[in-house]
Parts: sequence; C-alpha cells; structure tokens
Amino acid sequence: MAAMAAASATERTVIENCAIATVDAGGTEYASGHIVLAGNRIESVGAGGAPGDLANVVRRIDATGHLATPGLVNTHHHFYQWLTRGLATDHNLFDWLVALYPTWARIDEPMAHAAAQGSLAMMARGGVTTAADHHYIHPRGAGDLSGAIVRAARDLGVRFTLARGSMDRGESDGGLPPDFAVESLDDALAATEATVREHHDPSFDAMTRVAVAPCSPFSVSTELMRQGAELARRLGVRLHTHGSETVEEEKFCHELFGMGPTDYFESTGWLGEDVWMAHCVHMNDSDIAAFARTGTGVAHCPSSNARLAAGIARVPDLLAAGVPVGLGVDGTASNESGELHTELRNALLINRLGAHREAALNARGALRLGTYGGAQVLGRAAETGSLEPGKLADLVLWRMDTLAHSSIADPVAALVLGAPAPVTASFVNGRQIVEDGRLLTVDEDAVARSTRDEARRLARTAARG
Ligand SMILES: [Zn+2]
Repeated sequence: MAAMAAASATERTVIENCAIATVDAGGTEYASGHIVLAGNRIESVGAGGAPGDLANVVRRIDATGHLATPGLVNTHHHFYQWLTRGLATDHNLFDWLVALYPTWARIDEPMAHAAAQGSLAMMARGGVTTAADHHYIHPRGAGDLSGAIVRAARDLGVRFTLARGSMDRGESDGGLPPDFAVESLDDALAATEATVREHHDPSFDAMTRVAVAPCSPFSVSTELMRQGAELARRLGVRLHTHGSETVEEEKFCHELFGMGPTDYFESTGWLGEDVWMAHCVHMNDSDIAAFARTGTGVAHCPSSNARLAAGIARVPDLLAAGVPVGLGVDGTASNESGELHTELRNALLINRLGAHREAALNARGALRLGTYGGAQVLGRAAETGSLEPGKLADLVLWRMDTLAHSSIADPVAALVLGAPAPVTASFVNGRQIVEDGRLLTVDEDAVARSTRDEARRLARTAARG
C-alpha cells in the first residue's frame, strides 16, 4: 500500500501533440504523439494523446509544432578551454597544444568554475542533457578544480561525467607539455582516486559520475596509462583518453613505443567495454576490429577534427563493425561554437566527404550518434539516450514551426540538416532547465560576464609568465 501511495503521489508532466523520435532500438517515431513524465522517469511514450485517467498531472504542455527527442549527450569536452577560444587559429594539433599549454597551466579554481559554467550553459541551451568534461590540467596550488567543475554542472542541472584527467610526461621525458604543467605519477593517481571517492555516484539516476582519464599517449607515461587502467577497474569506473587523433600522434607512438596508438592502448590495458576514446581518426582495419572485439567506444568530434586539420574519422566503418560511437564538442579552443546540436549536422556532412560518400551517414544515424550512441559511450544507455518507459526523463522539445524549419516536412531531417533549431524546453531528470531558449538554472548574462572577466584574468596571468 505504501508503494502505491508513493506512486500515486508522483507528479506527472504530460507533453502532447508533438512529433517524436524515440531513438529506441527500432527507431520508432510518431508524427503526433505524447510523452508522460513521472518524477524523474519517462512513464509512457506513444501515438496520439496521453491516457485521460492520469492522476497527479501538474503540468500539460501542448507541443504542437515541435519535435521531441532524447536529450543530446556530449561525450568529449575540455570545459576550461572556454577561456582560451579563438587563439592559435591556424595551427595543427601539436603546434596548437604547444602554443596553448603555457596559458592553460595558469588556470585556477575561479577560472575553472566560470569556464565550466560557460561550456555547460552553451551546450544546455542547445539541447544537451548529459555532458562529459575531460579535465587534465591541474597546476600545483590551483585549488579544487574538480570540485568547481562538478559544482557548475550540479547548479546548471546537467547530468555529468567528470573524466579526471592527468599528464605526467613533460618535455624532459619526451612529452609535449612543458614540465611545469604536469603532475607526478603518484600525485595524479592519488588525486584521481580521491576525486572518484568524493564525487562518483554509481546509481541509476546519478547526476555525477567520474572516470579515470590520463590525457593522451604524448603527455602521459606508460606507467600512468597502465596504473590508471588498474585504478579505474579497482574502483569500478570508466576510462577515457584521446587516441589516434593525428598523423603526428601516430608517428610519435611508432618512434617512442615501436607500435601504433591502438596497439599501445591494448598493451597498457586501454581497450575494453569500459573505455571510450576521443577522435580515433587514424585507424586501420585491424584497429577498428580491435575496438569492435573489445567494445571500446569512440567520441567522434567532427568540428574539432576539421578545425585542427586532423582528418576524417571512419565513422561508417566503426558503426558497421559494431563499435559504439557518440559525438563530442571537444574543447572550445578547437571548436569555438561549443554547441553539440550543430555537430549532428557536421558529423553527417564531414563523413559524406569521406570514402562512403552519400551512404556514410543519414539524418537519423546522426541523431542516434548524438543521443543513444553518446549514452552507450558513457556507459549510460540503460538509463538515458532514448525515449522509452522507465528511462530517465532527459528530453528536448525542438521548435520546428518557425521560418528556419516550417517548410521541411520531415522533422528529423529538419533538425539535423537545417539551421540550429530553437529549444523550447529541455528536461533533465524530470526537471526543466531550458525554456524558450533561455536557461532557467543560471543567469546567462552573468555567466557571459564572468567568463569574459576570467578569460581576461587568465590572459593577464599568462602574459606575466
Ligand atoms: Zn580533446
């Protein structure tokens, strides 16, 4: 009886009269349907109006003219880079990193907090409901950067995975970052474990998860890769890093380790269904087979790969092999827009420039990458990433009846191929965080001011050296 009383007391929100792309396994869509949210879960999704006998309906939304989709999932980002956008704009990855490391090494806690707010606000406004941040810069004495980032996500109301990054291979060890920007092996491992213990929530509806995330082969020692993987498995959390991003990285791996990046990852324990890797641009057939065999996931970042002239990831081949693939903004120092909904379009366009041409990816495939694929890559596909009863109430209502989209009959084609669609409402965990394109949880103008001020402070601090 107590359980029934609790269930009947659950507050319901009813959304009706919208097109719905559920992105479930069968790709079910409704031209006009309903979604019922009960507490932080999706209770029902279907054609036509909602059942008439629902108790405790606290809100009814007439979503005529809208498309409902699962919330977008961002699988790779570096929030701190919000303060260093628009710099080194004509560089490839390695030159760009070398140009920016000295500035990044000056960040402190207020800067990290403001940058996280800016990055999250920009994504959330554009329909992101789950985000991941790969944060690997931890200057000595900078304060509690992980805590500041987690706080920003919690205050904004976005579901979040903090990939606690690290670097311990400075220039004097043959790495790319300057020595003063790296941690020691022991410090990196201890701080990562402490971050998992403080912030990781394994529960179904967790708002915060933590992953172990050494930065990349060219900034991390083999020992940190190996022990990082062991730490993650001991603590039962996921593993994240960058891999196979550029031809220069491939050359670096061959020179230093005598093998390509994928073989190096395999040799250090970094392939597995608990691993997701950003980029994966330069992969041969046997690399792709190794990812498929082990269930290793990929965060595809098309705009960043284009901005840094890294190349075109073989997304159609990865998908055909059964590799889980999600989308990533990547850091906003290499993708100044900072939006994920535009990556749906860019993923489709860029992949069609590759070997598979027009068969590379279609609009529904792009939407799947940005939703269910992302949830898979973050290990949360049972909980979010599609609109199905029992899953978490993470969804977006995209407005499709304005000048930008009203003459396109297929709403999914309109969303992916058209201009960025306005977000009328975005729900995370059953809580609305966006209304008519404005964030409900933070003052956007205040965030714009604080990020500008912190970006200027960082530039001044870095100039002093
Ligand atoms: Zn990255």
